[in-house]
Amino acid sequence: MNYRKIKINTASPDQAKSKVMIIYTGGTFGMAYDAHGVLIPFDFTLILHHLPTLRSLLLDLTVVSFDHPIDSSNMGPEHWKTIGQIIFDHYEQQDGFVVLHGTDTMSFTASALSFMLQGLAKPVVLTGAQLPISEPRSDARENLITSLEIASAKKDGRAVVPEVCLYFDDALLRGNRSKKVESMHFDAFESGNYPPLAKAGVAIDYNLQVIHKANPEKDFKLRNRFDTHISILKLFPGISEATVQAILQTPGLKALIIETFGAGNAPSAAWLIHALEAAIQKGIIILNVSQCPGGMVDQGRYETSHHLKEIGVLSGKDMTTEAAVPKLMILLGEHGIEKTKELLSVPLAGEITGSFI
Ligand code: ASP
Repeated sequence: MNYRKIKINTASPDQAKSKVMIIYTGGTFGMAYDAHGVLIPFDFTLILHHLPTLRSLLLDLTVVSFDHPIDSSNMGPEHWKTIGQIIFDHYEQQDGFVVLHGTDTMSFTASALSFMLQGLAKPVVLTGAQLPISEPRSDARENLITSLEIASAKKDGRAVVPEVCLYFDDALLRGNRSKKVESMHFDAFESGNYPPLAKAGVAIDYNLQVIHKANPEKDFKLRNRFDTHISILKLFPGISEATVQAILQTPGLKALIIETFGAGNAPSAAWLIHALEAAIQKGIIILNVSQCPGGMVDQGRYETSHHLKEIGVLSGKDMTTEAAVPKLMILLGEHGIEKTKELLSVPLAGEITGSFI
């Protein structure tokens, strides 16, 4: 995928405090109206024109822009690979990264990057906006400025937030715990099962207790093999056998996320249990993730999840669907079914409760 790169030293002629790379992928953030009143992506290399206050941050910025910025509904593993590769290639030279991304699938990309960037010790902050930067009431300006501050924040020479995170409205969330929950208001993201890493008010108040501590001994590696033979089945009252069978018969299917009710519950109909059991016996992984934005899957707590546990459905615990999708793709891209099953319950990047490895 092609991209353009420009350097802007907002500190010049003074000494820059930090070096931060902005990776612009598209989304509402960078849109402006054309002559016909239609929203189109603006040339992001002109960011200083839209945001002159950037100059006050004293940063050495490198801006990388996708040649063809995209709506994030079109994002997929190929784009994740490009973003991951850009970060990997510039990792040594930069203090932090800000990824400007459409809000619709931002949590999937943040989750994917959290698994891809193994041994990360610098901030990677994803942000975007609900209103284009060209609009007077846009949230784009504040989201970008605060994300840049977070990406450049250091304490005793080390990054304050050495993880993949998502900043929006006034909250910094762990990327692989976040979820888009709102399409009209500015508070678009939530992290039901993990406290915010920081809140931005008059000052940025970091919650150091819950921020990952990077291990400086760990090598920084890029994982970028994805196997996309996965699917999602969202359960609903009245779901038919034909619907379930249609998904299970998907050619090449290796893993299925079932989005269940409450604490991981599903209808106890014999046809459903048999269909899932037959799939598991064929070697398909079935992962139980709750439709609730908060709480966790606890298979066996109710009779309606007991059967799932008995037939070998795996518990996604408190993992979001947004994290489960790239986690499955990466694990299947690197390992066989058995190893993938084993690693699914391990917190690889803080996506489920347990110690972050
Ligand atoms: N559809 C847009 C996107 O996700 C929405 C946004 O950026 O807020 O790219």
